[in-house]
Amino acid sequence: MQTDSTTSPQLDVLIIGAGLTGLTTAYHLRQAGLSLHLIDQADRTGGVIHTHHEGGFTYEAGPTTGILSHPAVARLSEAFPQLLYTASQEAERRLILKSLGGKGQRQTFLPLPSSPLSGLRTPLFTLWDKLRILGEPFRRKGTEPDESVAELVVRRLGRSFLDYAVDPFISGIYAGDPHHLVTRYALPKLYALEQEHGSFIRGALAKARAPKDAEARSVTKEIFSSRGGLTSLTEALTEAIGREHFTLSATGAELHPEEGGGWTVRFTEGGQPRELSARHVITTIPAPSLPALLPFLSTEDLAPITSLRYAPIVQVAWGMRSVSLPHFYAFGGLVPSREDDELLGILHPSACFPDRAPRGGTLLSIFLGGMRSPQLIDRSDEEIRQLVTKRMNRLLGIDTPPDLFHIFRHPLAIPQYEASTGARYERITHLESQYPGLHLAGGLRDGIGIPDRIKQGEALARLIAGE
Ligand SMILES: Cc1cc2nc3c(=O)[nH]c(=O)nc-3n(C[C@H](O)[C@H](O)[C@H](O)COP(=O)(O)OP(=O)(O)OC[C@H]3O[C@@H](n4cnc5c(N)ncnc54)[C@H](O)[C@@H]3O)c2cc1C
Repeated sequence: MQTDSTTSPQLDVLIIGAGLTGLTTAYHLRQAGLSLHLIDQADRTGGVIHTHHEGGFTYEAGPTTGILSHPAVARLSEAFPQLLYTASQEAERRLILKSLGGKGQRQTFLPLPSSPLSGLRTPLFTLWDKLRILGEPFRRKGTEPDESVAELVVRRLGRSFLDYAVDPFISGIYAGDPHHLVTRYALPKLYALEQEHGSFIRGALAKARAPKDAEARSVTKEIFSSRGGLTSLTEALTEAIGREHFTLSATGAELHPEEGGGWTVRFTEGGQPRELSARHVITTIPAPSLPALLPFLSTEDLAPITSLRYAPIVQVAWGMRSVSLPHFYAFGGLVPSREDDELLGILHPSACFPDRAPRGGTLLSIFLGGMRSPQLIDRSDEEIRQLVTKRMNRLLGIDTPPDLFHIFRHPLAIPQYEASTGARYERITHLESQYPGLHLAGGLRDGIGIPDRIKQGEALARLIAGE
């Protein structure tokens, strides 16, 4: 811990929150030679990334994998080559739950088609929508900038593509509702395909044909994790930054602009009041925590930011020592809201990364709740255990109790990029220009996944280091 402000010199940067956003930003700032300090209320770094080890299982209490979807992720993986590794080929197989013979009938996990031929044969989509897709390149492009994901997909592809491809995909990423998420914020790449090329199909073909430089080739879209679980990545970042630059278990943090420029953070460490000052401050904490951190702003100042809704998630780690699930060998199975209003999906980490379960065993990561069933987070452990056990039996034929069973609750799991996003972005830009040196980062802007956090951290560090 640094000394108090009467003796410590002004730092270049203070970062509130030592999750992946804070860590990647700090890592790049340190690489650029800037002085900094990170403050977190938790007693560990990593934020929602938290790997556990027990009885030969390696399981996550939060995120399970990232996707190599941006050059910034490739650059980070080059910086830690022995750590990040890509998933086995099984990860390319995605399953979607569907009742064959109509709702209420036997539910089966079916593979999401990976080629035009399998697309024609799959029972996931109606024959009418399969034929209709031939007309997609010729359909007019949308003119409503805040069109929801559901509206866009029904307009271009048809209802069954919404129900059995996009809705479960949105459940898997956002734990959200495609009728409320706004495409240009929630799925900006999909939005750009239509806006720039007039069609998803024409856009995808043009992208595939476009010459790629080395940076573009580094974006392999592969699924990755970290050897020993994602915490080994956040630990490696913590080490590389230097543990002396962190204060953990710091409570009651408040930021105050200093007269004449610069910032002071006041907080409590071990019951003692502390103070640090810096030229720049970066917040990476969820929107509902901002009013207490930024007491110089009024409720109205922050209202467009604090109105951000978060999907709550209940996550269950389910391990079996001597049961394998060959029929479920895939990245996982996603669950359309038409098929189940409580279960979002079941990931199969041990099919993608062999070090996640003892040999011959299985590790599953089960996601429940989300915007489709937000109240589920308040259910008791016993109710959740019963609900999951029933689903595992019915959907995967598992009839023995698991050897490993843990429940994790995330009340503020995934920010929802809904119609309020434009106003939120405007307010962030306004506050950052009104208060020089203040940077509002994290999942409340620029995307919600691991690659988005890595990309944001690198961009923010470049902005500050290059000033
Ligand atoms: C259950 C779950 C599963 C997910 N799965 C995936 C996945 O598989 N793939 C993927 O790409 N993305 C996934 N995500 C999203 C991804 O995990 C996040 O985008 C990313 O890890 C968030 O990092 P962050 O640093 O922005 O936030 P966080 O990890 O939330 O870190 C914020 C930090 O701020 C600290 N903090 C909060 N308030 C204060 C305060 N007042 N004072 C001091 N410190 C404070 C917290 O203790 C925390 O350490 C998942 C998210 C969740 C919740």
